[in-house]
Amino acid sequence: MNSILKEPLQPAANTTITGHLINGQERLDAARLQDVYNPSTGEVGSQVALASKATVEEAIAAAQAAFPAWRDTPPAKRARIMFKFKQLLEDNAARICELIGREHGKIAHDAAGELQRGIENVEYACAAPELLKGEYTRNVGPGIDSWSEFQPMGVVAGITPFNFPVMVPLWMYPMALVCGNTFVLKPSERDPGPTLFIAQLLHEAGLPPGVLNVVNGDKEAVDALLTDKRVQAVSFVGSTPIAEYIYSTATANGKRCQALGGAKNHAIVMPDADLDNAVSSLLGAAFGSSGERCMALSVAVAVGDEIADALIAKMSQAMQALKVGAFSDANNDFGPLITAQHRDKVVGFVDSAESQGARVVVDGRMPTVPGYEQGFYVGGTLIDGVTADMDSYKQEIFGPVLQVVRVKTMDEAMQLINDHEYGNGTCIYTRDGEAARWFSDHVQVGMVGINVPLPVPVAFHSFGGWKRSLFGDLSAYGPDGVRFYTRRKTITQRWPSAGVREGAVFSMPTMN
Ligand code: NAD
Repeated sequence: MNSILKEPLQPAANTTITGHLINGQERLDAARLQDVYNPSTGEVGSQVALASKATVEEAIAAAQAAFPAWRDTPPAKRARIMFKFKQLLEDNAARICELIGREHGKIAHDAAGELQRGIENVEYACAAPELLKGEYTRNVGPGIDSWSEFQPMGVVAGITPFNFPVMVPLWMYPMALVCGNTFVLKPSERDPGPTLFIAQLLHEAGLPPGVLNVVNGDKEAVDALLTDKRVQAVSFVGSTPIAEYIYSTATANGKRCQALGGAKNHAIVMPDADLDNAVSSLLGAAFGSSGERCMALSVAVAVGDEIADALIAKMSQAMQALKVGAFSDANNDFGPLITAQHRDKVVGFVDSAESQGARVVVDGRMPTVPGYEQGFYVGGTLIDGVTADMDSYKQEIFGPVLQVVRVKTMDEAMQLINDHEYGNGTCIYTRDGEAARWFSDHVQVGMVGINVPLPVPVAFHSFGGWKRSLFGDLSAYGPDGVRFYTRRKTITQRWPSAGVREGAVFSMPTMN
């Protein structure tokens, strides 16, 4: 069991409707209601209130009103609230993992990992007084000093995906808030419960009302955020078509925007790889969280038929032990997919790979999960003989499906990766340092692992893909997070001595 979970999970009380948190108050007003499923059972567990434009505007107004006092709150005081928040997240770990499991389907050990990664971003945000230090130069000219400082943007918005309902929001608002901004968060409407719960914990930690507001909703709520003049910046994480829409709409409306999108993460398996280690690490990285991770390894590129055959043999053997099932059983390796529609989409990709000529070696399309027959399950699936022209290769599947592409050389493997429209994460399995160095130098991908399957940067680095996996110039969290949520201001100062008067200077000022 992950260390953050000190005791077995207790079922949470069932919430009937998940609403909003505006100006520190819980609100249930809805333009529409939408069902939220328990994907493990396939039953509707609760409903979510989808905000109207007017409700979103209220949230923005609350954030705008809270901004002046929050901007002027010393960074150390803002950070102190984050220290308390971290403690509350740890104290409530079991409850949070239960809520994630109930609405997302993640098994407790995986939910605990998500929470821990989120907490690490809160820890980093606690360093705000250090992170916000500016740059100072004395005597840039005679008697003239100059410094740069990092001021908050104002009201900023975050729009988050279903697959990390706790971690991805924690990539955003802890840093935005300690930098002095106020925030409106629009979580995924598919699993809004855990996101709202941790926002309530932050208020318990002492956050003043209006500094963080949560509005649940769909496109109507998102569009209200993207077009409102009071919102200065937008952070988005989700699929690439929506990321592109968010980026173009937000920037057309004059906002700073970072929009992180989808992925197709390849692992190159070199002929000299430590195959046993590669197989066990590929297992976790391909099937953990049902493959619903933007860093999941979904393509293994085997260099040479010999290693490809050995990989397929060992992998299919290891997959016999995979356990897919309900979130509530900690012995399961991974849980269901988020919705019935998504399960059907994943199965459709496996069907299409097969009909386009690939070979399904391990078939997870019809798993049996006794007692949970209506849950949205797909078992671990392994496909051999995938080629670059297949739909299942070109598009993101976002399910527990590992595809094997066979190539003859490392150059061919890298060409494949570099030609793909996505460039989020990648990994190479090799014992050859020269090959690994060549790979990390030349691969067109933002996050690279060398014998590391999920190279998700830790909280004090930044997270971001290349190509159509990220729209915008700055990555998420870490040092880029500080830059994204602040505006640089440079001040040049001189205090003329009393009685000294200078004439007008019409040439460009210089130090001479
Ligand atoms: P999604 O794009 O469907 O939804 C993300 C957010 O956008 C949600 O809050 C949703 O309400 C909103 N949204 C959806 N359709 C919209 C529309 N037409 N107009 C405006 N807003 C809209 O993504 P998802 O299915 O929730 O999440 C899975 C996707 O997120 C995958 O593609 C995955 O790779 C990606 N993801 C990327 C990263 C990353 O860091 N690059 C991290 C996690 C997930």
